Amino acid sequence: MRSVLIFLITIEALSAQASRPRIAIAGIAHESNSFSPTPTTLKDFMIRRGDEIVREWAESNHEIAGYIAGAKLYDFEIYPTLMSQAIPAGPVTNEALDKITGEIIDRLKKAPKLDGLLLALHGAMVTETYPHGDPEVMKRLRAALGKDFPIVVTHDFHANIAPDMWKLSTALITYKEVPHVDQKNRGLKAAEIMSGIARGKFKPTQAGVKPAMIYNIRYHHTSSEPLLPIVAETKRMEKQPKILAASVSGGYQYADVEWVGPTAVVVTDNDPELAQREAQRLSDMLWATRDKLTKQLPEAPAAVKAAIAERKFPVVLVEMGDNIGGGSAGDSTFMLAELLKQKAKGWVEAVADPAAVSIASRAGVGAPFNELVGGKIDGLHGAPVRVKGVVKSLHNGKYIETEARHGGARYHDQGLTAVIEVEGSTLDLPTLLMLTTRRQVPFSLHQLISCGIYPEKQKILVVKAAIAFRAAYEPIAARIIEVDTGGLTAVNPARFKYVRARKGLFGLDK
Ligand SMILES: [Zn+2]
Repeated sequence: MRSVLIFLITIEALSAQASRPRIAIAGIAHESNSFSPTPTTLKDFMIRRGDEIVREWAESNHEIAGYIAGAKLYDFEIYPTLMSQAIPAGPVTNEALDKITGEIIDRLKKAPKLDGLLLALHGAMVTETYPHGDPEVMKRLRAALGKDFPIVVTHDFHANIAPDMWKLSTALITYKEVPHVDQKNRGLKAAEIMSGIARGKFKPTQAGVKPAMIYNIRYHHTSSEPLLPIVAETKRMEKQPKILAASVSGGYQYADVEWVGPTAVVVTDNDPELAQREAQRLSDMLWATRDKLTKQLPEAPAAVKAAIAERKFPVVLVEMGDNIGGGSAGDSTFMLAELLKQKAKGWVEAVADPAAVSIASRAGVGAPFNELVGGKIDGLHGAPVRVKGVVKSLHNGKYIETEARHGGARYHDQGLTAVIEVEGSTLDLPTLLMLTTRRQVPFSLHQLISCGIYPEKQKILVVKAAIAFRAAYEPIAARIIEVDTGGLTAVNPARFKYVRARKGLFGLDK
């Protein structure tokens, strides 16, 4: 009896094994600022292959973590190939696009029989040759895998989605939230759809609609008006059995490409008319909010004055023109110069300046510091500013973030870091300039805490960001002031010259 039972269990286990779909994982994710003169090269990409992908992301809040967790939940086997991403900057070189996409295709071709591909693309990649890099990746994958091979794509909320994307993918979904705290969830949703396709349960049909507008990044915060009710509607739609996914992307205004701007994409189970109708409805909802998208922000002098006058702390000053997560230099000096000019006290600001870091590190802790800081990378983010003080501490620049934060990463490394105690500091209220070797997105308070800075005890925190910092900073901020500064991510599109964007877009053409 016992041996028969074991025999039966083994047969069952084997047949379950045989019927489990095998799904590949791959990705190339980049948000490219087409106005930036700094190209994104192969060496700028963090590339992980095979099991390294699992080690890097399984414990993170990234969509790859969602793919991996989804395999368990929906019972399929994963086949990780290559995942790559780079910090936003200028367009991706041909070499990087060709090498990365080429290796993904090689690995997919060498794989044992596959039943589908989960593909992580940002959706706003611009390359040297292709203004829309993501559909180019899709075309190459389609050519290699065939037109019917299931490919489920996840995009960032900031995707500038070209129609080819919903035509070439089997199903396309985007993150819903800014800050992007739902990346893992969207990876799980992609895994759920993929499992249904691989088992013959779902037959996805999808449609996309683009309203004739850009949606200024200033309004991308999805937990407040005007986007909140639209995002809530997409969540409600996904509870309907015929709708597999409903996504609204806000677009990325710093890529001058034909299909810049927001998109509504709806994936249904074998109902193309429903997909078209619902995508149109979401697009109309976006269009209907346009009168709420025209607020003016203060410039640096008024913003610093308001921060100094505030009674509750900390005040977060958001340097919108140098939004590192949007592809700018990370060494803007507009706020720094103004803070020094108005003799503000108790502020903290991080500036990427490898030359200044190495001067501070050679001088050593306790040594005087008197150097020109920032404004050195591309001449678009203010002039270098003289800062006097003392080298307070030096750090290796590594930290971890275990909470759900924008970007979903767990491991961070901003390179050798120096903290300067700026002239006029007291022990009770230090004024601190953090100099980093790499430009680092301010998505985690551990960037400061790991260097002995207590953000909630400071008066003013400057972040080079737009919306994404909020997941980390909102819980401690007494007030957040967004500032209209110059730079590669200036909020005002009139500061840029658009050539490729389609004509007549609200927010771009007046
Ligand atoms: Zn994004």
